Amino acid sequence: MNEKIRRSDEEWKQQLGPERYEICRRKGTEHPFTGRYWNHHEPGVYKCACCGEPLFSSEDKFDSGCGWPSYTQPIAADKVVEQTDLSYGMVRTEVLCRRCDAHLGHVFDDGPRPTGLRYCINSASLEFEGTR
Ligand code: FE
Repeated sequence: MNEKIRRSDEEWKQQLGPERYEICRRKGTEHPFTGRYWNHHEPGVYKCACCGEPLFSSEDKFDSGCGWPSYTQPIAADKVVEQTDLSYGMVRTEVLCRRCDAHLGHVFDDGPRPTGLRYCINSASLEFEGTR
């Protein structure tokens, strides 16, 4: 497993720019249907925008209609961490990058087969790399 990535808030701010910093490091959420990937269908891998770790595959992406890129599972179970999020008066499961602790989005149990899960992820937390 890759080594943990740790940077100061200032370093992340510099690296990511204000919008990505707010989402990835401050647990923000992009507006639905505004991100780069909700309607993106190329074959390839979606990497962490902060540390470059491959997190999701186009093979697990589906059209959820929710306005955020949605996947039935991560590329490997140990790529992400899931933890309870009680913010905004809701009980949700937050999804983070295991390598750098970036906030990615949330996972819900209303997804399609085979997992029944919907990993609802901010486009801003991802960087796509197409299959060559
Ligand atoms: Fe990361």
